[in-house]
Order: sequence, then structure tokens, then C-alpha cells
Amino acid sequence: MKARKTIKGKILELRKGKEQLLKREYENWQRYLRGDKSAQLYSATRQQAERLLKRLGDRFNPNKEYPLILRRDVYRANTKLTQYWLKIPIYGVRGGINVPIKTHEPITEDMVCRDAKIIKKGDEWFIYITVEKEVEERSHKSVLAVDLGIRWMATTVNSNNQKPKFYGKELRRVKGHFFWLRRTLALKKAYKTIKKIGPKERRMVNNILHKISRAIVDEALENDSMIVLGNLKGIRRNGRGRVFNRKLNNGFPYYKLSQYIEYKAKWHGIKVLKISERNPSKTCHKCGHKGLQVESLFKCPNCGYTCNADFNGAMNILKRGLGYMPSPGASLTMPRTRYDERLTLEEPRISQLQSW
Ligand SMILES: [Zn+2]
Repeated sequence: MKARKTIKGKILELRKGKEQLLKREYENWQRYLRGDKSAQLYSATRQQAERLLKRLGDRFNPNKEYPLILRRDVYRANTKLTQYWLKIPIYGVRGGINVPIKTHEPITEDMVCRDAKIIKKGDEWFIYITVEKEVEERSHKSVLAVDLGIRWMATTVNSNNQKPKFYGKELRRVKGHFFWLRRTLALKKAYKTIKKIGPKERRMVNNILHKISRAIVDEALENDSMIVLGNLKGIRRNGRGRVFNRKLNNGFPYYKLSQYIEYKAKWHGIKVLKISERNPSKTCHKCGHKGLQVESLFKCPNCGYTCNADFNGAMNILKRGLGYMPSPGASLTMPRTRYDERLTLEEPRISQLQSW
């Protein structure tokens, strides 16, 4: 299967002439997007602008600057020299311009470059190169269940070792801090400052999400697990609790985290199965009875079992995930057939589950 990821880099100091050319192309890109069809752009780049406009449709925001997108076949990231060189096509400049770049990781022989984006932040220029590589799917010996929850951003249990891991403490702290900061600034009517802290928060949150997703994928690698991801739908519903909870939870980037986990896992040939389940955290994972959730605690009125609600959710996802194991591995703690039967009774639409 093919896996993709983005390699980020910085365009190193540019000589004045090159900077002006790059700036002109970048500014023409913005003008073209805003409807000035006379803005001069390299032909393939102009096509990219058209494609972007088509994709955005009504979501196009004329007040926003968009990254300049280079079609995969018109730029070149030369990796032969110690320093990387990027050849950027420019309207009216034969052969484009060559600029030195530094990436945060190497572009290796097995990678194929796809589209690239040029981003301007203040006086600095950055390049995001999408790369693709052919990966072989691993054989999975266990299941790593990931529950995206409220108390914890992610809770994982592995069929090898059901001791749960909880992720997201740092995220809760950061989100809480910015929530408080924003409210305080709003009381002082410091709206300009509120606007300014947005990018900083996003950067911090993104770093944490990368850390969490990396840890989860590492855990899957260590145990030869496939990843089963669940409970995305439940979150939004459960999030409508108290007002404070709602405001705090709406800003939690569950979708983003699930995407990070997915693309990082795929890059290593790890299979990711997404399950949309109505109430994974409300069913007792011991007896299957409907239970009660009080704050972070789960209680089953049928068998009397009590545990952490996020752990219970992850265990339910694990149970479901084991039913989808491609081969009945010896290390599985639950017999496959039993869950196959249960699944065909409750959820016959496998294709729907997978497309989620
Ligand atoms: Zn029970």
C-alpha cells in the first residue's frame, strides 16, 4: 500500500533577486485566488490555483493567505548535495529559481515527491513537501484499542497487555490555560491580544498531538498490533454536558489526533481500523449490560463492575477490534469466533465500519 506524509523544511536565506521573484510569484498567487485572472503565474501553478479554488468553493476566504502549491512534476528537491536545493518555477523565468532548503528529516531514495507548498510567515519562507512511499502491511499479532475520550484525550489498551495507558494530561493543561487566558483577556476587552495568542496555542496543541500519536504508533510497533480507533462520534454528543465542559471539549482536536495516528501508522505499514460505535463507553465491557457513567467512573448495575470510564470504553473497542483480526493469533486473549457471532448479530455492515 502507499503511505504519505509531509516533510517540512525552511527556505534558507535568499539573495535579494531570488527573494523578489519568489515574492512576486507568491503575491500573484494570492491575487489570482482572489479573482484577478491577469495575475501572472507559472502555467502549472495557475492550474493549481484553479484546482484549489474548485476544492474550496464557498469556503474560500479572501482575507486569508494561501500556501503557494507547486505541482509535483514542476519543482525539484535535489538531494544529491549536502544541502538540499529546491527548484521553483516562476512565471517568465526560464528554469525557475534554485533556492537552498533545510528539511527536518531527509528525503530518502524510496520516497516520491508529490505536491509541495510554499508558505510565508513574516519574512521567512517554508516548504512543505508531500512524499509518498510504498509500504508493506505488517502481520499483526495483537490489537491496540484507542478510545478518544473526554477525561483523557486517548486511552489505549493492548490485547497483549491490558494495562491501560492514558494520554493527554499536558493537552488538558494547555487547553485549560488558553481557555482561562482568553476569558481574562475578553473581560479586559483585549481582543487584539486574543487574536495573537491563537497561532501560539495551535502550535503547542499540534506538538502535543504529534507526541501522543507518535507514542501510540510506537506502542503498536512494539507489540505488532493493528490499531483500532473508536468513539469519535460519541465525543461530540458526550461533550454537550455542562457549559464549561462543552466549551472546553469543543476545542479538543479529536479528529486531528485520529488523522495523525492514521497517517503515522500507515507509514509503518500498520493497519488502522476505525469504528463508529454509538455508546462504547456506556456498555459494561464485562457483561455487555448498559451501565452508568458518573464523572470519570463507570458503574454496571448488572454485574456490579466499576472502573474508569475511559478504560471501559477502550476495552469495548478492543473487544470489537479483536473480531476484525485477519488471523486468529495465538496471543489473543479472547476467542475469535465468539466475537464474530456477536458482530454479525449486532453489526453486519463491515464496509460501513471501514469507510466511517
Ligand atoms: Zn456488567
